[in-house]
Amino acid sequence: SLCDEAADECDNINVVIRCRPLNDKERQRGDENNLIFPGEGQAWVNMDGMNGQLTQKPKVFTYNVVFEPEALQEDILEHSGVKRLLDMAIDGFSCTIFCYGQTGSGKTHTLTGPPHLFDKGPDMFSESHGLIFRSFVYLFNQLQNRDDQEFTLTASYLEIYNEKVIDLLNIGTNTKPLQVRWSKKKRGFFVENLFEIECAELDDLLAVLEEGLRNRAVASHNMNEYSSRSHTILTVNITSEQKADDGVNLTRNGKINFVDLAGSEMTKKTNSEGKTLEEANNINKSLMVLGTCIAALSDNRKRDGHIPYRDSKLTKLLADSLAGNGVTLMIACVSPAKSNISETINTLRYATRAK
Ligand code: ADP
Ligand code: MG
Repeated sequence: SLCDEAADECDNINVVIRCRPLNDKERQRGDENNLIFPGEGQAWVNMDGMNGQLTQKPKVFTYNVVFEPEALQEDILEHSGVKRLLDMAIDGFSCTIFCYGQTGSGKTHTLTGPPHLFDKGPDMFSESHGLIFRSFVYLFNQLQNRDDQEFTLTASYLEIYNEKVIDLLNIGTNTKPLQVRWSKKKRGFFVENLFEIECAELDDLLAVLEEGLRNRAVASHNMNEYSSRSHTILTVNITSEQKADDGVNLTRNGKINFVDLAGSEMTKKTNSEGKTLEEANNINKSLMVLGTCIAALSDNRKRDGHIPYRDSKLTKLLADSLAGNGVTLMIACVSPAKSNISETINTLRYATRAK
């Protein structure tokens, strides 16, 4: 079987935590570091922050993997389990990596790195490159090791804003939002008329990433809240053909989704005010429904029951990896600052539930 590791490695949804460093602004205004990492996968939230001295009991959270503020971009690829997902995608499974967390917690940094990294063309040697770039490099290395198979890769890049799907590889001035439909043949959801770029080489995949990032900046129309309220999904589809001994070719269709989610402060706004899914529509339906789906999937009593994938665009598009034909990795991003403590606790709780 694909999964010979410890039992918890075989869950559909794996969770890791990444804490970003305190930034200059926070330091200047005297914001304190309120997270403690004593090792063994623990994150402690210091509830009183008296210069790091604990007078109250800290809140203790435990995970399989915790990335402390010193962690490098390279560490995320090496130690988060991403490589296993990429290998599974090559083998025909649907896998998803998503970053969850409040705005400013490091989701985009983790996935794509600093925004201007691609201005002068992709620099292969930058330490700041994010997980997407690093995954692409790993993927092509892996494919080269498999001489018995023929691979075809395509990539697409879309954004979901206010339940409207926008193609980040085709942003005309008067393009209509795209429709999400069910394919009988593939028994899955897909986006109608979405650009799919064939990528024969690493450079082709990198060009897709670059183009999507550039178009995302254009599509945002300088709206302040746009990037914190939208989700982006970059998908690499991997088709492999393997010649079997009896001459019959075996075809596999795998994929890997990289998802940069809207800020999680949006879900809190809806949950805390006791709003229904319908009312949450205007704030961020997709993020709320994702939370509901993950909570249900992580609960053994609920996971065989009804999971409301169909209630949002995002969950429709991620349904196959969430539902079991693959694995999902959630990277929960947090800030260490005292001023962010309540959002940090929300994210740590959410991540515990998804485990
Ligand atoms: P989000 O996408 O969650 O809103 P960003 O990724 O844009 O957050 O991060 C907010 C700011 O913090 C950015 O300026 C980013 O470069 C910086 N940052 C985030 N994570 C790290 C990190 N691990 N190391 C250094 N800087 C980081
Ligand atoms: Mg971001």
